[in-house]
Amino acid sequence: MVITLAVLIFLNIYCSKTSQKLFYQSKETSMIEKCQLAAAEISKLGVLNPSTVSDAIAQMDSLRVTRLIVTNQSGVAVYDSYTEKSALGSFVLFPEIVCAMKRYDVFSWQYRYLEGMMESRAATPIVSYGTTIGCVYMMEQDREQGALIKSLQHNVLSITLVLELVVILFSVAFATGFSRRLRRIVASMRIIREGDYSHRVDMGGNDELTTLGEEFNALSDRLQISENKRRQFVSDASHELKTPLASIKLLSDSILQNDMDLDTAREFVEDIGNEADRLNRMTLKLLTLSKIESQEDGDCEIVYMAPTIQKVVRMLSGIAEKSQITIELDVQQDCPILILEDDLYQIAFNLVENGIKYNTPGGRLTISLLRDGENAVMRVSDTGVGISEDALSHIFERFYRVDKARSRKSGGSGLGLAIVKNTVERNQGQICADSNLGEGTTFTVTFPAFDPGEEDK
Ligand code: ATP
Ligand code: MG
Repeated sequence: MVITLAVLIFLNIYCSKTSQKLFYQSKETSMIEKCQLAAAEISKLGVLNPSTVSDAIAQMDSLRVTRLIVTNQSGVAVYDSYTEKSALGSFVLFPEIVCAMKRYDVFSWQYRYLEGMMESRAATPIVSYGTTIGCVYMMEQDREQGALIKSLQHNVLSITLVLELVVILFSVAFATGFSRRLRRIVASMRIIREGDYSHRVDMGGNDELTTLGEEFNALSDRLQISENKRRQFVSDASHELKTPLASIKLLSDSILQNDMDLDTAREFVEDIGNEADRLNRMTLKLLTLSKIESQEDGDCEIVYMAPTIQKVVRMLSGIAEKSQITIELDVQQDCPILILEDDLYQIAFNLVENGIKYNTPGGRLTISLLRDGENAVMRVSDTGVGISEDALSHIFERFYRVDKARSRKSGGSGLGLAIVKNTVERNQGQICADSNLGEGTTFTVTFPAFDPGEEDK
């Protein structure tokens, strides 16, 4: 607003100066021409005295100026058209006359604001045979031009004032609207801070504040989603932990209340131990999951996949044997990737464990490693029970189990694949699952392969 006002004031001054300059340029030529004409006529006199000069001037009726003074070479007026306050016989040392004596043609002007008129003055030397013998000075007052300039200035001033008023009104209206919309955003922020994540702000318009409102709504959306996820997680976790705890309570109550024989009591205590183990496994997986989610990206090392997978196979070969599952490792091309070895172990362990757990006796589990362009690909493929199409889209959710009874029997908590997906994605990888019910399931994990040449660059 300040800048706009400054521009308007500058325009006002500029317009007024320009109008005066236009007048000045047109006047200068005509005044100097008149002076030179008079000087040429007077120079013919040779000697300047009041009577000869006034006779010569009387002959020139085209002069018609407000005041005409002719001085001799000493600057003494030998003619003055003013009868009142006449300078005749006295020194006239107007700046224009002093300059003219130095052989210059001089023109000056002045706008007399109070009188509302333009006053222009000109002087030229009178030269006779190469010598300055005096000077002609003319002064003209122009009320018409003055009035014109005054009205022009008045108009420019009025327009400027109206514009300034419009600018001020516009700025006040804009500032009021802006601060009202800003207050709306601040109020919405407070509502979200209080915990109402469903609140959205409607900014209207199409400016930066609208964009700010949209960004704010997008942020609220994310907050709401993560809040819903958190609530869902707390409720799922409590539910999952409640089941083994209820079983433990039931079993211990039965032991205390019933008069049972030692073998049955031993069986009940064994069940209590199994439930406690399940609780333990579940809390460990929950801890792993929360560790993965809070971990920052960045920590990684160059790891070849095959040795880690062989370690996993060695670890699980006992269970596989017990379940009569054959494990095959097919390394077509091993290549290094950037990951923490523990993370890769965690991924491979969960996938291989599932391939054994959800397989059928006599079944097969194949783990293959290959390079596909820029990627290192690991495939874990089993000939097990398979997963229905509906269930396939949920298997990476926490606590999701396709067959709750079967998973529980095998001690599953439904967290393994959630951990795998989180770990894979944190390491710039991708995971997908394909399955045919009753035929088997294949998990494909893809990581960007590490090119050892990159390290040297
Ligand atoms: P956890 O791994 O936490 O001990 P879990 O094995 O039940 O328990 P996930 O590994 O997350 O949990 O698997 C989720 C569900 O997906 C399983 O309960 C199972 O129903 C199904 N599933 C996973 N892998 C396979 C597979 N290879 N074949 C058939 N179903 C599978
Ligand atoms: Mg599992």
